Amino acid sequence: MSESLTVATDTAVSLQYTLTKSDGSVVESGEINYIHGYGNIIPGLESGLEGAAVGANLQVEVPPELGYGESMDVEPQRVPRTAFPPDMEIENETQFHARGPQGEALPVWVVGLEEDIVLISPNHPLAGQTLHFDVTILGVRAATADEIQHGHTHGHDGHGHH
Ligand code: ZN
Repeated sequence: MSESLTVATDTAVSLQYTLTKSDGSVVESGEINYIHGYGNIIPGLESGLEGAAVGANLQVEVPPELGYGESMDVEPQRVPRTAFPPDMEIENETQFHARGPQGEALPVWVVGLEEDIVLISPNHPLAGQTLHFDVTILGVRAATADEIQHGHTHGHDGHGHH
């Protein structure tokens, strides 16, 4: 593979990132490996990385509409813990799907926990936030056909399934 490969559709990208909110508080930092071009990461970050080379350090600002969406003005819903399967692990920011009025699957997030009550919201915990990513590109290579088909990276920088 060319050493000048840059981030583009069908490349396997590994990067190190720190995510900060507009108030300066750090949400998380870590490393991710993903196949570029398929919406595997949030849209605003994916487009911001387009064309970046290995070693590049980028500051990518992502508005809510290209991140986790606008925050809907709804109160969290209080659901008894007993409404969930007993073996289901529930913690803050756990995402699952609830049934909507037409039986459709709606993504919801746990936004609070009380003794016997789980607070759930249709808002992602980072909805309505402008996200600030500090990204360092660690690696870019051509993705294999298998990886593209699976939608994730394999090998030493991927996971061990198959
Ligand atoms: Zn796979």
